[in-house]
Order: sequence, then structure tokens, then C-alpha cells
Amino acid sequence: MKAAVFAALLLSMPVNAQVLWPDPPPLQIRPRVLLPPAEFDHEYIGTTTIIRMPMVNLQSACRAAVVSACAKVVDDKTCNVFILDDDDLTWFGWADQYDFILRHEIGHCNGWPQSHPKD
Ligand SMILES: [Zn+2]
Repeated sequence: MKAAVFAALLLSMPVNAQVLWPDPPPLQIRPRVLLPPAEFDHEYIGTTTIIRMPMVNLQSACRAAVVSACAKVVDDKTCNVFILDDDDLTWFGWADQYDFILRHEIGHCNGWPQSHPKD
């Protein structure tokens, strides 16, 4: 019950950045997505809007065939992050990866190139 209430509180927050930074929780779940290099792995300075949607819509929003999320930098103070909705995250086996996916995409908001260079 407490976990459900906590999860509901997290979902009601505009951005989970408060949970991710400055001190990310210990990795109890292994990330299956690439995490950004330290220079890009921090809170986005600006407005981040997280938009959840099913795969069929995400493919259009991200212009990719199979994707869990993408980030679109709107301007130097605005970044939109599109992430699969909970039903499709679960369907594709990514339900425990939400925070990592969000960190990955906020890394892109912070300027991490789409080619994912390691440095
Ligand atoms: Zn990426």
C-alpha cells in the first residue's frame, strides 16, 4: 500500500528530476538503457515536459520504428520528453526502467548527442 501511494506521488510530480538529482538512488535495478556521461547527467535547467503515450503514437512523435522514448529540444529553455505510457512500458518489459529512460532523455535535453558518444 505504501509503495502504491509513493508511486502515485511520483506520477503526480511534474518531473521526476527531484528524485533523480542531485543524488541518484543506489542502483537496485540495473539500467538497460545507456546513461548519459556525467557532463549531461544532471537536472535540465529549463522546463521539461514529460509526455506519455502508447507506442503507436510514440513512433510518430519520435519518428522511429521501435523506441521507448525520445527528447525534443524546443528552445534553449524548453525540452519535451516523450516516453511510452505505463501499459506499453510494461508490455515491452521496460516498466522498471522508467527512471533510467528519463535520465537518458534528459541527457539529450542537456545536449548529449543522439549518437551517444561516451565522452
Ligand atoms: Zn538516446
